[in-house]
Amino acid sequence: MTKKRIMILGCTGSIGTTALKTLDSLRDSFEIVAISAHTDLSSLLLIAEKFRVNNVCLTGKNDVDVTLFGSKNFYLMESGLLEMIRLVECDIVLQAISGSSALRSTFACIESHKNIALANKESIVMGGNLLFNLAKNAGVNIFPVDSEHSTLDALIRAHGKNAIDSLVITASGGPFRNYKLVDLEGVTLDDALKHPTWSMGQKITVDSATLANKGLEVIEASYLFNMDEQHIEVVIHPQSIVHSLIRMKNGALYAQLSPPDMALPIMNAINNNYIELQNIVSPLNFTSLSLTFEKYDELRFPILKDAFRCVTLKGGYPIAFNGANEVAVEAFIQGDIPFHLISSVVHEVLETNWSTGASDIEGIFLLHEKAMVLAKKVVKRWCDSE
Ligand code: NDP
Ligand code: MG
Repeated sequence: MTKKRIMILGCTGSIGTTALKTLDSLRDSFEIVAISAHTDLSSLLLIAEKFRVNNVCLTGKNDVDVTLFGSKNFYLMESGLLEMIRLVECDIVLQAISGSSALRSTFACIESHKNIALANKESIVMGGNLLFNLAKNAGVNIFPVDSEHSTLDALIRAHGKNAIDSLVITASGGPFRNYKLVDLEGVTLDDALKHPTWSMGQKITVDSATLANKGLEVIEASYLFNMDEQHIEVVIHPQSIVHSLIRMKNGALYAQLSPPDMALPIMNAINNNYIELQNIVSPLNFTSLSLTFEKYDELRFPILKDAFRCVTLKGGYPIAFNGANEVAVEAFIQGDIPFHLISSVVHEVLETNWSTGASDIEGIFLLHEKAMVLAKKVVKRWCDSE
């Protein structure tokens, strides 16, 4: 049997590392043909050696001693990444770069007709229908890696879209699920990074604390599965065992349960029925499970309501949501604004009229940049008033 060839973009991050750990034990079936990182050169070198990867890219530095890579093909900066995507043949790309900087490489995968296991939700939120139309025309399959969407994808395939009334996305509620509104004002970055159930990169962990991550996921689900906001629900499920559900028109609910471990959704997306996967995560012990569900609180986590609004308004709203949120989260990480202002920054940026969407990737970046500039003004106004 020929090995399935994989390219991993963002191989040094949380998703990339989990993928590599799982693929390490599946070397008979999978081969890693290309990898990228941004600045973590030493990890990139180690991974390239360990998995004998022939194509290696570092996007965030251009003063690198190329002799370190011996006879491997070595690519530098974003232009090198796009070239690597164009030149290296593979069966699927795991897109695990974080944030909006992944958009160009996601589009490049589509242009070079490469199927994508897509972890980077920002590509979907910003690329929207444009991304999916281009993928369809290029014959490219996009397999969601986000655990909720991986679950929804599997459930929709199993039960048929026509019989479904709504998608129910679960959320852990993050570290501040039980905090009072007034207490949210004093939380620190360290507090925000203490996620109760998932171990992830810094940006997405802060997003989980504000519920912006769930907002991005609501938008992601609306584009992926073509559902409007009235047919997407969010429910808080603190144990992160049920990874989303579908509510059928006949009243039934179907769910998928597994431990909170990204190995399963990553491998489902990469594998796509190529081999029979075994023991990717440990089986659940029912008798020790205690599963609870609760409503989310719009007052303490207002950003989620704004995300639902973006699904209704579409156009450039999802792009503006993402741009404003990236700026606000970075300002919080840098200590420029307190935690509770992240959602206020996003809300204020969404007050502008974003009804005109983008018709190409440059248009997406223009809208994104405009939202970021506005968000920076809001942040600066707050800093000046302090
Ligand atoms: P991390 O921050 O852990 O890793 C990001 C990866 O992208 C690293 O390899 C990093 O390289 C690289 N990178 C960072 N900036 C750039 C850039 N400007 N250009 C190119 N490469 C870059 O992120 P995660 O693994 O947590 O998340 C990756 C994506 O997957 C995000 O979009 C996230 O929302 C999504 N996701 C993550 C989940 C998780 O469990 N972590 C769950 C669901 C979705 P370097 O190490 O060299 O800096
Ligand atoms: Mg998720």
